[in-house]
Amino acid sequence: MNFLPIIEAKREGHAISTDQVRIVVEEFTHGRIPDYQMAAFLMAVFFRGLNKEETTTLTLAMRDSGHVLKFPKDQRPIVDKHSTGGVGDKVSLPLAPLLACLGFRVPMISGRGLGITGGTLDKLDSIPGFRTLLPMRRIVQIVQKVGCVICGQTDRMVPADKKLYALRDATGAVPSIPLITASILSKKLAENLDALLLDVKFGSAAFMPKRAQAARLAREMVALGKQCGVDTRALLSDMNTPLGRAAGNWLEVKESVACLEAKGPEDLRDLVITCAAHLLVQTGKAGSIRAGRKLAKHCLVSGAPREKWDEMIVAQGANLKQFNRKLALDGTATVITEVKARRSGVVTRCDARVIGEVVRDLGGGRQTRESVIDYGVGIDQMRKPGEPVRTGTTLCRIHAARPADAGAARRALAKAFEVTSAV
Ligand code: URA
Repeated sequence: MNFLPIIEAKREGHAISTDQVRIVVEEFTHGRIPDYQMAAFLMAVFFRGLNKEETTTLTLAMRDSGHVLKFPKDQRPIVDKHSTGGVGDKVSLPLAPLLACLGFRVPMISGRGLGITGGTLDKLDSIPGFRTLLPMRRIVQIVQKVGCVICGQTDRMVPADKKLYALRDATGAVPSIPLITASILSKKLAENLDALLLDVKFGSAAFMPKRAQAARLAREMVALGKQCGVDTRALLSDMNTPLGRAAGNWLEVKESVACLEAKGPEDLRDLVITCAAHLLVQTGKAGSIRAGRKLAKHCLVSGAPREKWDEMIVAQGANLKQFNRKLALDGTATVITEVKARRSGVVTRCDARVIGEVVRDLGGGRQTRESVIDYGVGIDQMRKPGEPVRTGTTLCRIHAARPADAGAARRALAKAFEVTSAV
């Protein structure tokens, strides 16, 4: 096919037809459009945008580029939550088993981290024996039996997004609202959901730093999700400060387990309960967010989701004995060292972007897609804005592989925290 007129049309800001969008996705997925032409097209979309019809067609064509999960008929609604990503955002880990205990089926197809935002699959990879790559048949089996699964996209699911995302990532074409919308929703629609909750982040560590941008992305995704037949809602949540007190793969698994034991940081527990409450309302299982929160809280403290977590990780290959032994350790990195407050006062800043960069540079994230992750490194025991400290109070702990890495992290963290004297 001659793809050039389509690139030129988009470059000039013209709409392209439904058939043309479908053909572009189909041809690119099958390797019949070279990367250099697709990169030019994506950049034209980045600057010119897509109208509603183009975005809908692109999303559905991407969904249909591969297989869609199919579940047997069952009373339990199929739901999921998707976060646009952040630092310390581990909500999916406790939320999946909580939702399973609330009577949902949860096929949580998740992603890996890149840059400063952590990825759910990288966190789960720190669990001994855990498998994030499962065939589609097994995903359906686990969802039917356990109620929840958290795993990666198979090669057969939404292959168009895999190729398009890699190209966008390498050419600076990620932060485009129609492309993000199509990318996220094509994957979620391939899960065959009844209801979807989107947690759209804004702030220093979000890829939409301004609230207004995040709100626009949220509105567009909600409208498109609904148009595609999925009850879709969005929350806007702050990512100027990390979620919880830990950032780093294994440290976040530990914090998630604490959340399932009704311990751990309040902001994490609150967001997990809020997400569950929305999905309960969306599926008619609760009449209001207040009633949904009550149900979710009650379920969380019952201990059932903690047991469900073990059931889920065992179904995905985890070695429970080794997992529990690892859980009992304070940390698994070679060096664990504290950063202390130099003055008394109140914490006024705990910057998610700087902390995300520190975790990445400690080896907990990727500089490139090929980077090898160190699961044990990260930051924990973070003090958050509004909390009082005294001189010498721990502001956070650094978990590092080497003393030199811990030293570099300590220097960088000086920019992350601000303590203002109480007046
Ligand atoms: N996450 C995705 O899956 N796709 C995007 O385009 C951006 C974030």
